Amino acid sequence: MNNSISICWFRQDLRLADNPALTNASQHDNVLPIYIIDDINAGQHALGGACRYWLHHSLTALDQSLKGKLSIHQGNAKEVFDDILSRFDVQTVYWNRCYQPWQIARDTALKQHLQAKGVSVISSNGSLLWEPWQISKSDGTPYKVFTPFYRNGCLMAEPPRAPLPTPKHVTCLDDERGAFQVKNSQLLTKGQWHRKLEPHWDIGEEGAYTRLQHFLKEALPFYKDGRNIPAKPYISKLSPHLRFGELSPNQVWHAAQHMGDNEHIQMFCSELGWREFSYSLLYHHPNLPNQNLNTKFDAFPWTENMQLLTAWQKGLTGIPMVDAGMRELWQTGFMHNRVRMIASSFLVKNLRLHWHHGERWFWDTLVDADLASNSASWQWIAGCGADAAPYYRIFNPVIQGQKFDVSGDYVRQFIPEIAALPNKYLFCPWQAPAPVLKAAGITLGSTYPNPIVDLKQSRNAALAAFQQLSNKHTTQ
Ligand SMILES: Cc1cc2nc3c(=O)[nH]c(=O)nc-3n(C[C@H](O)[C@H](O)[C@H](O)COP(=O)(O)OP(=O)(O)OC[C@H]3O[C@@H](n4cnc5c(N)ncnc54)[C@H](O)[C@@H]3O)c2cc1C
Repeated sequence: MNNSISICWFRQDLRLADNPALTNASQHDNVLPIYIIDDINAGQHALGGACRYWLHHSLTALDQSLKGKLSIHQGNAKEVFDDILSRFDVQTVYWNRCYQPWQIARDTALKQHLQAKGVSVISSNGSLLWEPWQISKSDGTPYKVFTPFYRNGCLMAEPPRAPLPTPKHVTCLDDERGAFQVKNSQLLTKGQWHRKLEPHWDIGEEGAYTRLQHFLKEALPFYKDGRNIPAKPYISKLSPHLRFGELSPNQVWHAAQHMGDNEHIQMFCSELGWREFSYSLLYHHPNLPNQNLNTKFDAFPWTENMQLLTAWQKGLTGIPMVDAGMRELWQTGFMHNRVRMIASSFLVKNLRLHWHHGERWFWDTLVDADLASNSASWQWIAGCGADAAPYYRIFNPVIQGQKFDVSGDYVRQFIPEIAALPNKYLFCPWQAPAPVLKAAGITLGSTYPNPIVDLKQSRNAALAAFQQLSNKHTTQ
């Protein structure tokens, strides 16, 4: 009798359906499904607090789907594999590819290590619609601009493959000796912050699928314009489910395409295209999380005022649209995309704090924190990334509020202390006459902060700093 086993290594694919690694592994008799919490190799990119909360629940859900057979480990992946190899006759290891630079380095070395020990390694694409190396310009170089990347690259390439069904049978092994239970993993912090997130999410493959179905029916028909209105439920909120692979982008893409062909569906699919673009950027520029793609910005005169940073993090800048976004983030682990743009632009342009500060805060607090999308987006906002927003494009949080939160519902939900203001002053309470403030029960500087910067002056200062940078470069 052959006692050899196969391993299915779950990583950013915490689902059973459309999981190529699991489908391949299920062809074998004895499958050991494993997950490794590998903070050692992740280093500075180890998961932030919000993602650890999510992972805790996502692993719990996956373990239930696998009838309690998920074998969870903590530590350096190589050492975990060496331990498993010392206890089992492992024939093949299956995994779906991951694209963070540290993951690529670890997996490349691990693959060689396993192969040298006579173990086959089969990797598949379970997280992207197109591999980053698959989409390139006609001269073979990677795209730097989104529109041609998506239109000429993605849409002209082989369409994303159809999703795979959940394998009918997976004969899972028990690994009682090696593994521990999720509840012992210390993924959840001791503080109670994560409890606030609970009502907002249904974590795991089933919850992800339910959210997708709800979005297709209730929100997709309004998506094109509705996606810009933070008070309306017209976005999918699928990003954390995609981040942890509780759903694959193939499932989402095909489900949307099955709804027909209209401007809403095209717009939604192009947003999935932005995710692909971010991954392509990270793959071709592994320093994306740390270094300005446009090196001209290396000399930018950032300020280092930590009091301003704290006010931004706490949603106490005195600029309602920014504060509402930052409080949405703290209370739910999520921030609407329109508001992410407003709040991040305010940090890098009006406060002139380095985008790294924002990237790190988002990394720790977003349930969808994703190295590719987060760093690409911050570089885009700061003006130093590929296809970046031009530096002089500075979001005005007052005008943005008046345009995209016309009813004021979003600001009122997250800043109840100014809810009684009339819409005219809701986005700029400092302009309200004293009797209006009094009638609304507001004392600026006491019940709600005065603005920590003057929007106009700080905008001009940012433009001047940028101009200085440009001059420096043209005279060098
Ligand atoms: C400063 C900043 C930081 C960001 N950090 C992250 C991050 O860490 N993780 C993350 O997933 N997204 C990030 N985004 C992109 C975007 O804000 C979120 O993907 C989006 O808000 C998620 O909400 P949704 O699922 O309802 O999106 P929908 O509008 O429903 O879009 C569907 C899916 O498309 C993808 N998508 C949409 N917009 C973008 C985009 N601009 N870039 C990349 N993918 C996109 C997401 O996977 C999303 O789930 C960031 C944006 C900014 C401006």
